[in-house]
Amino acid sequence: MTNLEMKKEVIRIARKADQMELCRHKSGNFSMIDRKQNLVYITPSGISRDDLTPEKIVVVDLEGNVVDGDLHPSIETFMHITAYKVRPEAGGVAHTHSRYSTIFACMGKEIPPVSAEAVLYGGKPVKVAEFAPPGSRELAQTIVEPMKESDVCLLKYHGIIAAGEDLEKALIKLIYVEEVAFLYYHMLALGQKEFMPLNLFDAMLNG
Ligand SMILES: [Zn+2]
Repeated sequence: MTNLEMKKEVIRIARKADQMELCRHKSGNFSMIDRKQNLVYITPSGISRDDLTPEKIVVVDLEGNVVDGDLHPSIETFMHITAYKVRPEAGGVAHTHSRYSTIFACMGKEIPPVSAEAVLYGGKPVKVAEFAPPGSRELAQTIVEPMKESDVCLLKYHGIIAAGEDLEKALIKLIYVEEVAFLYYHMLALGQKEFMPLNLFDAMLNG
């Protein structure tokens, strides 16, 4: 992908997440990494997705220094960089405040894989990272342990982050965690106490 194609792809996925109501107004941030150059292409801070143009996508190095762009990069830039370091195979990272996922993040409760769709993000419970203020270096550190084992993790009292082979795949993981969170929420509301056995995912993941 060229530099321009990377910027356009970040915008395309950011808008898609918005259209799917996974994030609202200016919340949520999206990035892709160029592993050869070690550069991250990330949405800017405080700009509506309607107003995004390729020139507004900010390029940063792995220390968070801006190497291209006039705007400030997303306040969660260090969280994205940390996700790329913890998930060395990841090509894209997406962070949103998806509603049902964030209910469980705010409750500090992991989301078990209650339907076969969870296979699309590894078929494991989605863990909750400890709370740290949005935009802080501490928040970036909280995702290290949970993301060593998974491409997705909840951010306590805040939202969710996902890494994927590319940015579209990161978004797809957010979509499926949100779907499973929706199902789990309603199953709990109906009084269900037993959920899909975890070992059923082994055959699906290894088959
Ligand atoms: Zn956020």
